[in-house]
Amino acid sequence: MNIGVLGLQGDVAENINASRQAMAKLGIKGTVKQVKTPEELASLDGLIIPGGESTMIGQMSLVNGAIKTIKEKIQAGMPVFGICAGLILLSKNVRDKTVGKTNQPLLDLLDVRVERNSFGRQKDSFETEVSAEPLGIQRMRGVFIRSPSIEDLGKNVKVVSKFNEKVVAVQQGNILATSFHPELTNDVSLHRYFISMVATRKK
Ligand code: GLN
Repeated sequence: MNIGVLGLQGDVAENINASRQAMAKLGIKGTVKQVKTPEELASLDGLIIPGGESTMIGQMSLVNGAIKTIKEKIQAGMPVFGICAGLILLSKNVRDKTVGKTNQPLLDLLDVRVERNSFGRQKDSFETEVSAEPLGIQRMRGVFIRSPSIEDLGKNVKVVSKFNEKVVAVQQGNILATSFHPELTNDVSLHRYFISMVATRKK
């Protein structure tokens, strides 16, 4: 199994680590590596788009052509896990809590509208307990860093987690997305779920 973490900007190493641990726990053999170019993306079975700055990741992947390959592969069924900025990039619609409309490149695949910086700015970052019961995860830690919230869910989008009445994790078929960061805790249950999604598709 080949897992890639989009490594143009953001917390790449933490996601590589969490994915390797999750694979080991599941007894699955494979590689997890940082990917940047369309060529590196081509051979992947699953992709993680990490947290960071969605405008920056979007612009860079537009310039190097990665955004087109990522979109095609997801449309062809490749599982993808978008975290925070990654969730924003996957979405069809985005607005920022303070500045409103953002003109940023999007993959335009996940049928939701996200509100950027929904929980406040950097200084408002926090860690809390969340659950993802539809995925069989009763409780886990989630780190919220300038996190978005998820609104206007299309009918194919399943709520996976809520925090303070806001939707903070969803799944739409082969797309899994969270507004919090699971890779910044030592709990790899969501990465494990994602690796299982990839394994199921490969069967
Ligand atoms: N607020 C950031 C953005 O809009 C996302 C923050 C994060 O990924 N931790 O891109």
